[in-house]
Amino acid sequence: DNFVVLKNVCKRFGDNTVIGNLDLEIKKGSLVTLLGPSGCGKTTVLRLVAGLEKPTSGQIFIDGEDVTNTSIQHRDICMVFQSYALFPHMSLHDNVGYGLKMLKLPADEIKQRVDEALKLVDLEGMGNRFVDQISGGQQQRVALARALVLKPKVLLFDEPLSNLDANLRRNMRETIRELQQRFNITSLYVTHDQAEAFAVSDTVIVMKDGDIMQQGSPDELYKSPASMFMANFMGDANIFSGYYDGEHIEINGYRIPADPKVVEGKLKGCYQVGIRPEAILLAHEGEPCQQCVVESAVYMGSMYEVSVRWHDQQLLLQLNSSQFNANLADHAYLTINPTNLFLLAD
Ligand code: ADP
Ligand code: MG
Repeated sequence: DNFVVLKNVCKRFGDNTVIGNLDLEIKKGSLVTLLGPSGCGKTTVLRLVAGLEKPTSGQIFIDGEDVTNTSIQHRDICMVFQSYALFPHMSLHDNVGYGLKMLKLPADEIKQRVDEALKLVDLEGMGNRFVDQISGGQQQRVALARALVLKPKVLLFDEPLSNLDANLRRNMRETIRELQQRFNITSLYVTHDQAEAFAVSDTVIVMKDGDIMQQGSPDELYKSPASMFMANFMGDANIFSGYYDGEHIEINGYRIPADPKVVEGKLKGCYQVGIRPEAILLAHEGEPCQQCVVESAVYMGSMYEVSVRWHDQQLLLQLNSSQFNANLADHAYLTINPTNLFLLAD
């Protein structure tokens, strides 16, 4: 049930190898996100899938068909961009209906489908307005409607929310996710924003320098990063040298019961132990080895960001307001949630 498949795809511009050797699969109806820093090759992958670029080598399949040499017009794909790429001199109706008009559909069918699409993106009844009469957020909704109205086999999104402010972005990523799921549109989404990737995706593929670092569900990537790069890329992480003896994970003399999921497939030995900021709590009591010093606490609204020194190591904690009180500062003990840590090869 893989609907989009890239096999050994390599893309070079001159002697610049942008995509080394990429294998990628998108199941029918799912949304896969490429997440990675600017310049890592995300847009290039989208353009390869769309047919705007040809791979230097390798193959691309859509719906079981080898489209490696198929032109963009014959791939049945729509793309939604960061810059909405709308026609400013046309009404919203004509913008959304543009592709249908190119297909020479009758005017009344175009009108019906455009009205439907505008309704889906909460722009019902606004078809007669012009692009410069609506906000940026609404323009992006028009761009989305223009793609949806064509019912493409595959939808591609290139950083579609980058020009929107934080509230609109949250709003819009929910719309995208909802419509994508409602219509089961196979989608490839590109962003450099981890929160956005987690919010919209079934599967996230993390890229760096044209290579895949790791792929999985947002939960898998956050809880079980496969490398130090991934551990840090997926959020804040406290890293310790530790030892797994088959039953406990020991760091700084503190023995944490080994959770079966955390140590799945791991042999006894030395590891780098990663602990997310929310997995460490502070208490009034504990073993001597758990004693720590609270160095600072910054109120962040929904939580405190607390800096703690423990055995000469600086830790970052995130405690909600009820878990933190100032008189812990003098003599605190930390406890670590055994289910919420990960082991990396030493
Ligand atoms: P991203 O979308 O992740 O920011 P891009 O895919 O746009 O990354 O670019 C990846 C690399 O490929 C960059 O180094 C960029 O300069 C190069 N590149 C992209 N398109 C071209 C092109 N048409 N010609 C030459 N180099 C290109
Ligand atoms: Mg890009």
